[in-house]
Amino acid sequence: MMLPTHVLGGMLLAAPLVRVAPELAPIGFVAGFLGGLFPDLDMYVGHRKTLHFPVYYSVFAAIALLAALALPVAATVGAALFLLGAAVHSVADMYGGGLELRPWEGNSDRAVYDHYRGTWVAPRRLVRYDGALEDLALSVGLSIPLLYLVGGPLQQIVIGTLVVAAAYTLTRRHLAELAAQVVPYAPAALSPFLPDRYLDDDPKQ
Ligand SMILES: [Zn+2]
Repeated sequence: MMLPTHVLGGMLLAAPLVRVAPELAPIGFVAGFLGGLFPDLDMYVGHRKTLHFPVYYSVFAAIALLAALALPVAATVGAALFLLGAAVHSVADMYGGGLELRPWEGNSDRAVYDHYRGTWVAPRRLVRYDGALEDLALSVGLSIPLLYLVGGPLQQIVIGTLVVAAAYTLTRRHLAELAAQVVPYAPAALSPFLPDRYLDDDPKQ
């Protein structure tokens, strides 16, 4: 799933706070957003492995959630929502496409790395690839309750995220083609900073 879907999903995890502890809701929404974002900071270094921990984030999120329930203050609630957002992101990546330049072709058997079992989890393709139409539908669906629940700058963040989601969905396939065209001409010095999937040899080209 694309990053906008992950951050909106992370934010929505904080929804119950609006009822139970409204004064902690804003920090929960921000922490959920950041937790949903965090795993994909590995985009250029071992994507979906370095910062993706489907099992360990879930374990720590459960512990942090218990701590937040026992002592609901900004620090515990923030930590719990951050870990929950990162856990849901890492688990959700299993249900998307695989790691490849053109994930809609469905050639990759790597969705996300499971550090606990020491193996790659195969993509289940409930969402065919990041930036697929159903991915955008998911982003829109997640944002509707959020737009009711949040106000002020958080509402602008949700709207801005939706704009990014729409732009990414519209350009997703073109971006992959563009990358395939440009990358062979990029200076070798740049290659450590390009996602691995752009450097794969593609027999179809
Ligand atoms: Zn991810």
